[in-house]
Amino acid sequence: MPIRIFVTDDIDHEGVELLRAVPEFAVDELPTLPAAELLERIDQYDAIVGRSATRVNEALLRRARKLRVVGRAGVGVDNVAMDIATELGIAVINAPAGNTVAVAELFFGTVISLLRHLTRADASMHEGRWERSELLGSELRGKTLGIVGLGRIGGEVSHRALAFGMDVQAFDPYVGDERFAALRVKRAPSLDALLGAAQLLTVHVPLTDETTGMIGAAALRRLRPGAIVVNMARGGIVDDDALRAAIDRGHVAGAVLDVYVTEPLIGDHPFRGCANVVLTPHIGASSAEAQRNVAVDACAAVRDALLHGDLSRTLNGVLAGEDAATLGPALLLARRAATVARALLAERGATAIDSVTLKTGDDLTASAGALLAAAAAGTLEGVVEADRLNLINARSLATARGLVLAHGEGGFAPHSRAVEVRLVAGGHAMRVGGVAALDFPPRLTRIADFHIDVAPRGTLLVLTNRDVPGVIGRVGTALAEAGVNIAEYHQARLAEGGDALAVVTIDGVPPAHVRETLIALRDVRSATLVRFTGTA
Ligand code: NAD
Repeated sequence: MPIRIFVTDDIDHEGVELLRAVPEFAVDELPTLPAAELLERIDQYDAIVGRSATRVNEALLRRARKLRVVGRAGVGVDNVAMDIATELGIAVINAPAGNTVAVAELFFGTVISLLRHLTRADASMHEGRWERSELLGSELRGKTLGIVGLGRIGGEVSHRALAFGMDVQAFDPYVGDERFAALRVKRAPSLDALLGAAQLLTVHVPLTDETTGMIGAAALRRLRPGAIVVNMARGGIVDDDALRAAIDRGHVAGAVLDVYVTEPLIGDHPFRGCANVVLTPHIGASSAEAQRNVAVDACAAVRDALLHGDLSRTLNGVLAGEDAATLGPALLLARRAATVARALLAERGATAIDSVTLKTGDDLTASAGALLAAAAAGTLEGVVEADRLNLINARSLATARGLVLAHGEGGFAPHSRAVEVRLVAGGHAMRVGGVAALDFPPRLTRIADFHIDVAPRGTLLVLTNRDVPGVIGRVGTALAEAGVNIAEYHQARLAEGGDALAVVTIDGVPPAHVRETLIALRDVRSATLVRFTGTA
């Protein structure tokens, strides 16, 4: 069965070609469909890739039983019901970096247009006039540019502003001094300080609770008289009514707006007909190059997620920004350690897990969130529907079932890349740990107090027995008679003649009666079979 991908909203063909080039993929490309028609078709697809025109809402996501990935060729994902996608384990991927230059270039195009009255000049010429004296403008050089948000676009704007000879200052409390220094931008200690300095104020922040209405009436009053305000980020960051009032009062000299609270802009908007305001219809990213960049970027990430399970680009996953290749073995180990611990607790009759606690060695501390999600997935393996259990939704599925997920106090010392998962169920606790070294496949090295050394793969058999002669022989014979081949056999004990534990990895799936056969053997106390299914 091919992996079916629905591509829509006329995304650039270079991106679509990347998907078509993969033999495992079947790509259907259609123009933006009416919502009802899309709802009819969606349950055939493993992925949907589009721009903002297609609304990926709750009804669509719940209907899309096969869907694994939503790709957005662009930045904003306001058109995707993110919470529902996360609940369902559907990865949402965007392309945040491909259009930064397009926005930065539009910034200078429109600001210079405002300062040099280009639209008026052009219109008057086309109307047959020659109005040089009325079209006296002003320059960028020497002016103070105040940037709110020194991220990707803020950074591109700052580069170009320096080339124009501007004094560039920025306010961004979430960016370190190194970036300010590298960009040669002065750090404003507060938004108020930036407002007091800026002759040209521009916002390049996301729309969040903190930034909604950030440039309102009070902020505009703090601006220097004659300042210009630019919003190319998102409608609502600058309060439009307050801005119009400040322009009418003459305190603000003009504005450039590319984004609006409600788009498309309809009816009597405060800025329609306002002479000193340049309005563009959300075209910041509308360059051929940007459209190609975001399509290629989003399609490559969707391809990697579908083919290789690479979730490092998902917006709603714990793996965002992680190096999937390096972390993969540790994720697998955390997941499988949890599966083993759960199976051992179930053997004792404790099936309702109360908590999952993760400890890691120092090198994995920074990835503890992703590893805890993997441990949650391992705990839920075989308990919830398998094809919708992954690192995106494991934590929310686990907490919805009342499991407490926690990071254990202190590091886990045996190795800098060690992982230990401790499960508690009805007063019983079980810890299982191992090491995911960079140059070796992961190994399980600890079950409860026993030191072991086996690969967590295929089918694992955990036996507890009395430490007396003959047990290993009897187990080996019983497995051989059942036609089961042993891959690895590790016997461990705490003290001579006391309790012993054996971990046996076996090839293939053993016959159903094997467990009973083993338990019936003299001196064997318990036998737990663990069949690993999920990948990390
Ligand atoms: P980014 O994430 O790279 O940068 C955003 C910056 O804002 C970050 O450095 C962050 O630290 C900073 N920030 C967040 N909250 C802040 C706060 N309260 N005060 C000060 N700084 C804060 O994002 P980007 O790619 O540069 O995009 C910036 C904006 O531009 C976004 O809103 C995006 O949606 C918008 N955008 C618009 C268009 C368009 O067509 N007009 C195209 C692309 C992006």
